[in-house]
Amino acid sequence: KSSGRGTYRRFDVAMHAQLQAHQKMKIALRDALERNEFELHYQPLISLKSRRVTGCEALLRWRNPERGMIAPSEFVPIAEETALIVAIGKWILAEACREAAQWPEHVSVAVNLSPVQFKHRNLVNAVADALSSSGLDPARLQLEITESVLLDENEHNIQVLHDLRSLGVKIAMDDFGTGYSSLGYLRTFPFDKIKVDQAFVRDLPHGKESLAIVRAVAGLGQSLGMTTTIEGIETEDQLAIVNAEGFHEVQGFIFSRPVPAAEISSLIKGSL
Ligand code: C2E
Ligand code: MG
Ligand code: MG
Ligand code: MG
Repeated sequence: KSSGRGTYRRFDVAMHAQLQAHQKMKIALRDALERNEFELHYQPLISLKSRRVTGCEALLRWRNPERGMIAPSEFVPIAEETALIVAIGKWILAEACREAAQWPEHVSVAVNLSPVQFKHRNLVNAVADALSSSGLDPARLQLEITESVLLDENEHNIQVLHDLRSLGVKIAMDDFGTGYSSLGYLRTFPFDKIKVDQAFVRDLPHGKESLAIVRAVAGLGQSLGMTTTIEGIETEDQLAIVNAEGFHEVQGFIFSRPVPAAEISSLIKGSL
């Protein structure tokens, strides 16, 4: 019994430490924007037909003086809890558009949106502002959303998607296949692009189920007139399969990891 209680206490202490770390990060996040600690890295999207870079996805990084580089999976959820993601998201949009305006005209930029940004009415304004202050052609901006934005057929969010589309930007469904009703969501909004999640790539070329799903999505994109992209391509075997299945575009370490803004221009030029 006494060891049981001891175990409980250790658990309690661990929980407490975790909560404290969480709190600490929350506080550090509050100042990160003002202190210019965020940066965007860019990962190329490659057209399988031309083998050229057709776009780059902006991926958020937090360079904290104490902890070094922090991945978005560690801090985006915390920024979402506090709605800080709204201000950070605004910065991301402005920064990504400003950067992309320097790239060749056939190269677009993809920006990830958090579902929390949809709760705030200023999302459409933030996108419009980013476009007008950068001068970027709206057709060169792609907004990536995940299925959670459409959860419960959220009417408000669907309206926001239409408003965003009216600005002339493209809307992509990210991480396709990981939600519980991926196919259903394709009926709620006419997406310009589907991005298949890397979970379906990992066990290619041998995973029969993954192959069947990847094949079905390629066909779906074709019949719905959507661009099909697949992320997480790391090997030549995986590349050969998605090429054979007729995907339009790929993204993955096989071509490039996400790189700092200063490096992406030469990467794009190198692919011309
Ligand atoms: P995502 O939008 O699905 O981004 C793709 C993630 O896959 C990126 O991780 C990228 O580095 C990684 N990746 C790309 N190719 C490969 C590959 O070949 N192999 C493997 N193993 N991984 C690959 P990252 O940068 O850590 O971002 C993770 C997630 O964080 C993103 O998933 C997105 O949901 C979120 N995120 C990133 N940037 C932002 C942002 O600016 N705003 C918001 N709201 N979320 C963001
Ligand atoms: Mg994405
Ligand atoms: Mg994705
Ligand atoms: Mg993903």
